[in-house]
Amino acid sequence: MITFDGVTKRYPDGTVAVDNLRLEVPTGEITVLVGPSGCGKTTSLRMINRMIDATEGRILLDGVDVKTIDPPTLRRGIGYVIQQAGLFPHRKIVDNVATVPYLLGWDRRKARGRAMELLERVGLDPGMAGRYPFQLSGGQQQRVGVARALAADPPVLLMDEPFSAVDPVVRASLQEELLRLQAELNKTIVFVTHDIDEAVKLGDRVAVLRVGGHLAQLADPPTLLARPADDFVAEFLGRDRGIRRLSFVSDEGLRLRADLTVPVSTDVSALRGTAEPWLAVVDADDRPLGWVAVGDLPESGTLAGIRLAPYGSFVSGRDSLRGALDATLLSPSGGAIAVDDSGRVRGVATREALDEALDRVAGGARA
Ligand code: ADP
Repeated sequence: MITFDGVTKRYPDGTVAVDNLRLEVPTGEITVLVGPSGCGKTTSLRMINRMIDATEGRILLDGVDVKTIDPPTLRRGIGYVIQQAGLFPHRKIVDNVATVPYLLGWDRRKARGRAMELLERVGLDPGMAGRYPFQLSGGQQQRVGVARALAADPPVLLMDEPFSAVDPVVRASLQEELLRLQAELNKTIVFVTHDIDEAVKLGDRVAVLRVGGHLAQLADPPTLLARPADDFVAEFLGRDRGIRRLSFVSDEGLRLRADLTVPVSTDVSALRGTAEPWLAVVDADDRPLGWVAVGDLPESGTLAGIRLAPYGSFVSGRDSLRGALDATLLSPSGGAIAVDDSGRVRGVATREALDEALDRVAGGARA
């Protein structure tokens, strides 16, 4: 555990970057520091590995004041990843990753072996090992940065906007990769970002800071989104906080209708007089094919020859309410098709059923 015990950082010019910060970073979890530019995130992070020393207060690493540990020893147990990866341009990828093991005096073969293993772990082709950083894309370089930070297997990882300089698609895959790695490695991670979406995606706990290095709120993402501590936090979370929050609400209790699906082999004559404007058409395996507008049906034949409207689906019991809501956006009927893990249709969540579920969530937030 990392403890900020009333930590203040005053720079020589008088700027108070961090003011009496009290914060606990639990072992084996991802704690995200998020807030607007200049709120003291980087300063807070760098005080942990003593790249910056606190002016007042103490930072404890498993109960030991970091000021009593000499910086090289301290940093051996703390991996550090920064925005532009910070790779050595004239060293091959494998040697970049092996930097710390070399410093620790490992023999070359063992260090390189470890580096190769890590490259694979972070999702890089071992064929990249012999290249130089400039021969890699931004996203690949970030992966190398993560591999390098993990090389000596430090229990703590500090990450300062590590994914901010890559495009959104690569960024999303790096975030997924980090979560996957963390599920295996259980590091104590302090992750700095200015991006609230990234914060709620990655954080077990999210610390929202405001300028001056004040802790505005510390909470797990669902709590943060449901109950922002004050107007500053609410504003920082943004207008679509309600939508984001739905990612954490299970679709349990969402009413599904089984009577709105029809097999594609159905003869249209059987559907005449149906009161529902839209029906979800499924194949012989119960997999969704699309929506049919009952009012536009031809005189005869089966549904097989009819052009269907696009549909959105979500995995019932696994996706969140947000997944269900997103699925409705694609459907002309306003309903979302619920499927099971193997893709078979379980029913339709109508717009009304979703509204009911959303009302319950809103009621919960007011309670
Ligand atoms: P963030 O990471 O949240 O953007 P920083 O920790 O980098 O914030 O900076 C916090 C505040 O401290 C800002 O006002 C910044 O200008 C100031 N600051 C950062 N480094 C220095 C420094 N070396 N000297 C003086 N002021 C600094």
